[in-house]
Amino acid sequence: MTSSKKPLACLVAFFLVSLIYNSLYNAHFLRLWAEGEAPLFAGYMATSVVMVYGLFLALSLSKAVLSFALPFVFFVSAIADHFISHWRIRSFSLNTVAFAFETNLEEAAGFIGQKLVAWTVGGALLAVALVVVLNRFLASRGQKSTLLVILSATVASTALHFSIQPPMALPFNLFESTFSYLHERYRFEKLLQKRKDISAADFTCRDREMVVVLVIGESARPDHFHINGYPRQTSPNLERLGAFSFKDVTACGVSTRTAVPCMLTRATPGTMEVAATETSFVSVFRRLGFHTVWLSNQRFLGKANTKVSAIAREAEVVFYNDRQADNVHMRLLDEDLLGAFQEALRHPSPRKFIVFHTVGSHWLYDRHYTDRFRVFVPVCTKKSQQDCTLQEVINAYDNTILYTDHFIAQVIEAVRDLRAIVFYVSDHGESLGEGGRYGHGHEENYPEQSSVPMFVWVSDRYASEERLKSQCLEENQGMALSHDHLFHSVMDCSGIESPVVDKGLSICQPLHR
Ligand SMILES: [Zn+2]
Repeated sequence: MTSSKKPLACLVAFFLVSLIYNSLYNAHFLRLWAEGEAPLFAGYMATSVVMVYGLFLALSLSKAVLSFALPFVFFVSAIADHFISHWRIRSFSLNTVAFAFETNLEEAAGFIGQKLVAWTVGGALLAVALVVVLNRFLASRGQKSTLLVILSATVASTALHFSIQPPMALPFNLFESTFSYLHERYRFEKLLQKRKDISAADFTCRDREMVVVLVIGESARPDHFHINGYPRQTSPNLERLGAFSFKDVTACGVSTRTAVPCMLTRATPGTMEVAATETSFVSVFRRLGFHTVWLSNQRFLGKANTKVSAIAREAEVVFYNDRQADNVHMRLLDEDLLGAFQEALRHPSPRKFIVFHTVGSHWLYDRHYTDRFRVFVPVCTKKSQQDCTLQEVINAYDNTILYTDHFIAQVIEAVRDLRAIVFYVSDHGESLGEGGRYGHGHEENYPEQSSVPMFVWVSDRYASEERLKSQCLEENQGMALSHDHLFHSVMDCSGIESPVVDKGLSICQPLHR
């Protein structure tokens, strides 16, 4: 027995267990290899072997802890690994945890099969067997100092990894995401509690029938729409359907998380805190008896989404297209929201308010439209704009605009025969190589990021019954507007009267230069 108490044997034994663990539960990194990212695969694999090794060594400092924790880690990792391979996602993200926690039994039943049970129970049993073997190698008290030195080194490298980026490897990825989820969930609940319900104010709406649709665009620029003078034909449908285009609109913020809550509430760039202290106009429509529906192609929780999700929660029906997906960089198509939209339109209520929170023109551009819309080529398919030529980036971006035009057209066609009004406005713009910049969310408020496209379409019935409003929409197209106008315009154009609605900020009223 004395030989098995040598620290070297103990270190080797734990290293082997780390290898076994990683080959079982971090094998999904192999996909990176298949995608031609061999260096990334090697990096992830090497760091995860070291990190898991450190974790197991730490557990081994107490026999009792090791006996309980190792089977537990294998068990939960098996569940996470099942989700990762089932959904073909890169890691167990915050939104994956949200989905796992909030999924209902019926949905859950779809994921729990014999394979999952065998994989998790098998993993736990294997871990129990490994504990029995490892216990034979555990170092004696006097030799723990060597172990501690090795352990410190791996803990230090793990900490370094965490400080650079969130961990991609199991089980750290799972622990980190679960912690973030619980934290975000807490923030979310607190936010919901502290908001004042503005719908309690005096609001009236005389129109018996009214269908209002608001499409929140993502990262779209006004100057890349042909309807606004862009040389490429990127908006044939908006032109064909006679949408009004407001060409001079300034965003409230240059990121989703600042702009969207500001657009839908009374918040302005100077009073951003209002977005967290008051409900949005969604609550007003609901209070007035509109069937309110929120259709989202963005995420549920996370730094960028929590405040928006609190607003979404004001609607009667909330639909997230792909809650388990990692982030907006994934393959997401706005057309996938149209099924839920059709269902919302079938609701018997003659009054409806439907919001789309689209993925629009978010990077990675080429993942947000179908092959039919890969019209401007060649396109950038790399993960970073800098790895492509400027023209490839712009081509892919313009395809997203073309696809957005197609998407808006389908929304319009669906409500064409109703008494309907459709608003489209992007949350912010996007840099496309200006001064070497790409994307959005820069603190400097660059004009290409703070100018947004805005379109309004009205049905023939609306136009004939609301002549004055339609005429104002026509005449206000050249006015300098901002997201501040949206709150008041959406309600005023929908026939909602209230001291809260400032007609001086409504595009359905005569605006003075
Ligand atoms: Zn955005």
